[in-house]
Amino acid sequence: MICVLSGGTGGAKFVDGLRQVIPSDQITLIVNTGDDLLWWGLYVSPDIDSIMYVLCGLLSRERGWGVKGDTFLCLQAMGQLGEPIWFHTGDRDLAVHILRSRLLAEGKTLSQATAAICAKLGVKARVLPMSDSRVETRVDTPSGEFSFEEYFVQRWYQDPVNSVRFAGASDAEPAPGVIEAILSADAVLIAPSNPITSLGPILSVPGVREALRGARGTVAAVSPIVGNAPVAGPAGILMTAQGLPCSIAGVAKAYEDFLDLLICDTRDARAAEALRRSGLRVQCAQTIMRSTEDRAVLARTVLSFACSNLLRDEQTSGTGTEESTFNQPKVDAATDQP
Ligand code: GDP
Repeated sequence: MICVLSGGTGGAKFVDGLRQVIPSDQITLIVNTGDDLLWWGLYVSPDIDSIMYVLCGLLSRERGWGVKGDTFLCLQAMGQLGEPIWFHTGDRDLAVHILRSRLLAEGKTLSQATAAICAKLGVKARVLPMSDSRVETRVDTPSGEFSFEEYFVQRWYQDPVNSVRFAGASDAEPAPGVIEAILSADAVLIAPSNPITSLGPILSVPGVREALRGARGTVAAVSPIVGNAPVAGPAGILMTAQGLPCSIAGVAKAYEDFLDLLICDTRDARAAEALRRSGLRVQCAQTIMRSTEDRAVLARTVLSFACSNLLRDEQTSGTGTEESTFNQPKVDAATDQP
């Protein structure tokens, strides 16, 4: 079993790679819910949605969020009614928000609602919200404090950032299965997600960092920072605001208490050498995921680095090899489609 901690953009691309190279039912995802918001009275969980959609082949590749080929008639109509429309949700996407909101209103937890929606979408991987309690990422700027989506989508992440906090984290509990998944996984993979606003909320849930420190499998992170800049989005600004350099060293620092292995881009080979001297295991790979194939190649590479012990064990016991475990086409790629 592979456990992946993820946000919704870089994370979703990486998960798309993983699902191509291992069967989805061997993947447990622990997903950020710090970006969740109430929108038009509906409970929207942007990162869970992106992860569910990528796992069932519905994620829009062009936009990187929402359902491919979706229409936006409801958004238009809401605009005509004078309602806010800065957060875009397509019509089919909206159906998921309506269903989730109904399940929550009936008393289901976010974990239960997520499992129910995954089952309906035909998602074979286990998708766990980081917590069933509300933990909200709040971004403090000179213009005031905003939720993550207000800062990122409504205000186009143009504000200078003073600091980021995770409201509600200290009282939150990990969702059922989160700690067990981390502790028991053959490898725990930290997706190339924003270390502050995607991994930060997950790591702020009491017990999660401790579990990562106690994980029996290798804990490996893929850097979302390449050549001292994020591949996309505000990770650099947010890392600087939180006192971390925008570099692979900053990523390593964010995860320093539990990280066994950092996978960074080949462009960062020199910085990787410096990090190795500090004692961290660092491997370089092509980490920019442009094509579907790039995603699969990166996932396979990360698995071969992170699971080398496991592969050796399997080879010794004669139950499998790197070749048989990871290089075969994904078994359930077709059946995962809804
Ligand atoms: P969010 O929930 O939308 O913020 O999504 P994530 O946190 O999962 O992803 C955002 C991060 O993905 C950014 O910091 C990007 O630098 C990173 N990212 C996006 N595409 C790639 C890629 O192709 N390769 C790598 N290494 N990082 C990427």
